[in-house]
Amino acid sequence: MEKFQESMYKLIVETSTKLPKDVRRAIARARMKENAGTRAAMSLATIVKNIQMADENISPICQDTGLPTFKIKVPVGVNQIEMKKAINQAIAQATKDGKLRPNSVDSLTGENSGDNLGIGIPVIKFEQWEKDYIDVRLILKGGGCENKNIQYSLPCELEGLGRAGRDLDGIRKCILHAVYQAQGQGCSAGFIGVGIGGDRSSGYDLAKEQLFRPVDDVNPNEQLRQLEEYIMEAANKLGIGTMGFGGETTLLGCKIGVMHRIPASFFVSVAYNCWAFRRLGVIIDPATGEIQEWLYQDGDDVDFGHDEQHETNTKEVREVVLEAPITEEQIRQLKVGDVVRINGMIYTGRDAIHKYLMDHDSPVDLNGQIIYHCGPVMLKDGNGNWQVKAAGPTTSIREEPYQGEIMKKFGIRAVIGKGGMGAKTLAALKEHGGVYLNAIGGAAQYYADCIKSVEGVDFLEFGIPEAMWHLRVENFTAVVTMDSHGNSLHEDVEKSSLEKLAQFKDPVFK
Ligand code: SF4
Repeated sequence: MEKFQESMYKLIVETSTKLPKDVRRAIARARMKENAGTRAAMSLATIVKNIQMADENISPICQDTGLPTFKIKVPVGVNQIEMKKAINQAIAQATKDGKLRPNSVDSLTGENSGDNLGIGIPVIKFEQWEKDYIDVRLILKGGGCENKNIQYSLPCELEGLGRAGRDLDGIRKCILHAVYQAQGQGCSAGFIGVGIGGDRSSGYDLAKEQLFRPVDDVNPNEQLRQLEEYIMEAANKLGIGTMGFGGETTLLGCKIGVMHRIPASFFVSVAYNCWAFRRLGVIIDPATGEIQEWLYQDGDDVDFGHDEQHETNTKEVREVVLEAPITEEQIRQLKVGDVVRINGMIYTGRDAIHKYLMDHDSPVDLNGQIIYHCGPVMLKDGNGNWQVKAAGPTTSIREEPYQGEIMKKFGIRAVIGKGGMGAKTLAALKEHGGVYLNAIGGAAQYYADCIKSVEGVDFLEFGIPEAMWHLRVENFTAVVTMDSHGNSLHEDVEKSSLEKLAQFKDPVFK
């Protein structure tokens, strides 16, 4: 097993930087369905470009490299303690090499371990089997989509769908509701794994287990096969679309599993995964630890096509170039749906910075400036200069308690993030004269390429993802989804998708 650590390193790097072929095929199909010139088509074109850039640079597809979860099947007699040690060393090495973002944080102190190791991280689940080889599967599931997982206890009342009972039709309603409640916040279009039955923890385990099924497989249980097919069709009529911008594709895959339960409990657990569905697997020789075969990689290379209409400007939007410092007048001219291309300086800020700025001064003058909700992957080069390895937007709603006040306090004019923000921020944008700009979630390579220099950093003591990075950008593209006139695309899409959801209220499955 001397090669096992090296094999695990290869698996981690490949998972973080290269989307599996079955996922690529699903994205390519979605791209074909979108009408050219829409915001959804533009977003998918950016996603495709990002996937290709990650391939070329061997860099993380998304800057949130998630919580690594390994599922390992071993023949009897394999030393699991040694395997765990090798995996931990491979994780630490991949973090040092910028293939994983340091993502493991002490839950009480907030301190980042710096190497992606910590209590309970990585998750490693072993199972023994009677085959003579080792099967290792890895999923890197980011926080944005993990936070959209949901569990239902039947019977229950569901917004738009009414009563969900303890039967197949009740299960159907829960799954549709799960897609609706995620909106674009888990970086849609997404994949869902569903677990029916079990208890609260085994139900979620079963849901996550479904994410290890190939996207193109067929459920051997006929009832569940029909349900999966139905969900794919119905969910894609909700109109949530890529990034929640509206569009034809909301769901890229649906896999449902079932287990027994006790009579008193009936759980339906849904694990939501973003389009950046990073999961791969390998077959390992137990004698040498070498990789014998890669999983999920069958079939030809996926051709995403090259369609100028999809790649360039959209017909439904206006384009505006912004450079800080931005005036209130400039901001008031922006409307929901405008595409903004930013040049000049932007400053990253996420949870720790927002909390800090509530009752402290800023180390830089933020008047008229742009804040970017982003926790990048950064590495120092040989000369000690910071290099941006991945820098897509993080989920903005976490900053909802702080955002409006901070914008007013420091005179910030624009905030870039993903997934949108709530009523408090919308009111502050209107009062103060600010906009929310939705960048394409997961497009970490695409945005890293827009960053032309790192001009400084503050609060490095908060950890690399939480620090305030001063970034000079060129042609950094985002969509105005909340403007200074009280309009929110997120609210509009949520409302229209709820109306569409209600069309699926009547029983379909007995
Ligand atoms: S694509 Fe979005 S949800 Fe997925 S890991 Fe990246 S930021 Fe998180």
